[in-house]
Amino acid sequence: MISIEDALQQLLAHVRVLPEEQKHPLQALGQVLAEDIAAGFDLPPLDNTAMDGYAVRAEDTTGAAEASPRELRVIGEVAAGYIFEGAVGPGTAVRIMTGAPVPDGADAIVPFEETDEPFTRPPSGAGSLSGSVHVLKEAAPGANIRRAGEDVREGEGVLRRGTVLRPQEIGVIASLGRDHVRVIRRPVVAVLSTGDELLEPGQPRQGARIYDANAYSVAALVRRFGGEPQLLGIAADTVEALTAKIHEGLSADILITSAGVSKGDYDIVKDVLAREGEVAFWTVAMKPGKPLAFGTFERDGRRIPHIGLPGNPVSSMVAFELFGRPAIMKMMGKREWLRPVIRATTTDRITNAGDPRLFLARCIVTRRDGRYYASLTGSQGSGILTSMARANGLALIPPEVDAVEEGAKVDVLMLDWSLGDEWGSWTDDGAGDGALLPGTTVIGPADGSV
Ligand code: AMP
Ligand code: MG
Repeated sequence: MISIEDALQQLLAHVRVLPEEQKHPLQALGQVLAEDIAAGFDLPPLDNTAMDGYAVRAEDTTGAAEASPRELRVIGEVAAGYIFEGAVGPGTAVRIMTGAPVPDGADAIVPFEETDEPFTRPPSGAGSLSGSVHVLKEAAPGANIRRAGEDVREGEGVLRRGTVLRPQEIGVIASLGRDHVRVIRRPVVAVLSTGDELLEPGQPRQGARIYDANAYSVAALVRRFGGEPQLLGIAADTVEALTAKIHEGLSADILITSAGVSKGDYDIVKDVLAREGEVAFWTVAMKPGKPLAFGTFERDGRRIPHIGLPGNPVSSMVAFELFGRPAIMKMMGKREWLRPVIRATTTDRITNAGDPRLFLARCIVTRRDGRYYASLTGSQGSGILTSMARANGLALIPPEVDAVEEGAKVDVLMLDWSLGDEWGSWTDDGAGDGALLPGTTVIGPADGSV
């Protein structure tokens, strides 16, 4: 039996970071930047107003107050996206809208709220306007002006190679005028289920056969973590069927199979894997998910890694979590794939007596009165996939611990921060409990799943 750490280390040693590609920024969400990005111009490009109001010379407003308004002659107006062709001279003002460049001569913006705002219509680009406005409050020089380059200066480095692109980075890239970006490619992940007993969802039920769950849970995980799943379908337990499907999978960047790797198994899967490539069959010190195959196939001078997950649906998901997810994230150029682990009070007694493996117990973590509680989500049999569906974490029970008593602390590897997000119906049992936004509950620091 080998440890989870050993297995992961050996496996990752055979997994390479993929080549770069050019992408539209929006298609690159969750990918790793493969270039340094610097600003080609100041952002914002010009001094502009942060408020709707009047561009004025601050000195013209000295002493202005409700009781002693300062009257200024309005000489024109300017909206965002336009430039006012003229200058604000003594005793004059230009009506200005948020984002519009500050006209020459002006050094402060007086918001509408601090004037008697005589005009009611929306501005039309840049143009002339006649009349006058009364300023009701003194403006300091620079008031409500956003300076050119205050966000980023021309030439300044903005994003570094290696950054994982989140929505905010994608917005920054767009703000620099870029419609393409170099990133590390997403892996194409071939997903294959094996077993005579399996049926494709959608097919009519048949006697002793069961529907293929693993291909779907695994492909969904692949997609969640940024890979592109390629479903190969089901290989029957024959040499020919398996060999053909494996060959089909070798055009991908990595092959993930499920089932056929445990000790008592019908040996065809193992035989075919061993014949087609190099493969090791490991007994990993984890529960669920003990049997694991790892190997590589050669194809046209490329080495394609293969992870053989156990067949039981929970085991295959948990083994994917511990081995498949890091492999995919490494291929995408990511250097961080640790999940947040939180310490919670268990509401159940969790036993792991006499088992020399780490027990990853399916549980649901909730927060009440500022504390995290972990409750088992039902039977821990490795075939009980619905208890995975009710879980948002895996409680980690070390091999040397025989039992964690009810009320004791347990570390939980969080798979999701909430089930509510995905179900659209978060039960707000922590209402008002430190939450900054109405209707939200503080769960903890969110870890980007991409
Ligand atoms: P095996 O590793 O082939 O011995 O399979 C272990 C258990 O997992 C058996 O009960 C299989 O029927 C079940 N199993 C294998 N593959 C799948 C799958 N793709 N979906 C659901 N159950 C599966
Ligand atoms: Mg089987």
